[in-house]
Amino acid sequence: MNILVINCGSSSLKFQLINAESEKLIAKGLCERIGIEGSMLTYTPDGGAKEETVTPMANHTDAIRLVLDALTNEKTGVVKSLDEISAVGHRIVHGGEKFAASTVINEEVMAAITECNDLAPLHNPANLIGINACKELMPNTPMVAVFDTAFHQTMPEKAYMYGLPYEYYDKYKIRRYGFHGTSHSYVSKRAAEVLGKKYEDLKIIVCHLGNGASVSAVQNGKCVDTSMGLTPLEGLIMGTRSGDIDPAIIEFIAHKENKSIDEVMAVLNKKSGVLGLSDNLSSDFRDLETGYREGNPRAINTMETFSYRVAKYIGAYTAAMNGVDVICFTAGVGENSAFVRTMICSQYLGYLGIKLDEEANAKRGEEIAISTPDSSTTVMVIPTNEELAIARETYRLTK
Ligand code: AMP
Repeated sequence: MNILVINCGSSSLKFQLINAESEKLIAKGLCERIGIEGSMLTYTPDGGAKEETVTPMANHTDAIRLVLDALTNEKTGVVKSLDEISAVGHRIVHGGEKFAASTVINEEVMAAITECNDLAPLHNPANLIGINACKELMPNTPMVAVFDTAFHQTMPEKAYMYGLPYEYYDKYKIRRYGFHGTSHSYVSKRAAEVLGKKYEDLKIIVCHLGNGASVSAVQNGKCVDTSMGLTPLEGLIMGTRSGDIDPAIIEFIAHKENKSIDEVMAVLNKKSGVLGLSDNLSSDFRDLETGYREGNPRAINTMETFSYRVAKYIGAYTAAMNGVDVICFTAGVGENSAFVRTMICSQYLGYLGIKLDEEANAKRGEEIAISTPDSSTTVMVIPTNEELAIARETYRLTK
């Protein structure tokens, strides 16, 4: 059974075709600049050459039509017809309090996702467009919605409530939701499997450190806290997002710089984080690492501040769970940067009895423990695979 996984943004669409039984990737790709001049499809059949085609895509339906054409193309396609695609799994950013699990998409589900649009005005409408485009082209193929927020719905009230007037929760459902849930769930489960331990017996902290970054606390197989909030802006310092700040700063910048609320929010989302902190050196940790090694003071300060914030969240979640058994690093930075992992573990995690195994920490692309066997808390690198997790959920609900 082949599952098409779709991750639809406002002007982009990422896809993967995965065989559900073998869990093998069959093909993957990306549509960029949808609805903008210079639209491009990148398509890579597994084991084959990457093809880049600049071709007009007026909307997401055009983009999905091109993806389906590429997948069924006589020469470089991977399936003979669309009948060989049994189901489609859609990544949906915000499920609010309505969705604590993945679900088969029907009209009622579409309406409930639409009701969450206010909570993710940039993402959910794009996700819905992706669903509608697929429905148009594959009307009889079952579809599943997999939510970024669902895994975190087990958080207790004390973790998800803000210290705000209760009426805002009542009226608008303002609370902490958390994101990257598919990744936190996948990585924490894999960690238990790799260690040969029962998921339900462990206290796990997952550090998903990518361009977007979040930490979660998973106790006995359930998420009990996570660092992102109502939106993905809360928590860690990210590529371009500020993470936690004093909310009064928004008013302060607005007055001083004569900016509207929307403009200040754009600064917090797009011009802050390690990009802003490094005085626009880069949002990419590879550049910052190079800058650090070269002795650039802004790069050094940025890396220190980033790592310190991660370490503080690990400390907070150790307290929240009254201990921690496993700490996992994942996503672009977490998986690839031995440097960042060392900065966090060596400087701040000695109190957890953690000693890094330098040789293991230097490896890339493996599911591996990077702490020494005598460490009292295990530190691991677990490469995330959100697409595979979405394919699994889709398979489970449609097979
Ligand atoms: P993600 O959002 O998970 O795709 O992560 C993307 C980020 O990972 C990029 O912005 C880079 O900062 C970071 N990254 C990727 N490769 C490396 C590497 N080898 N060393 C450090 N950071 C990396």
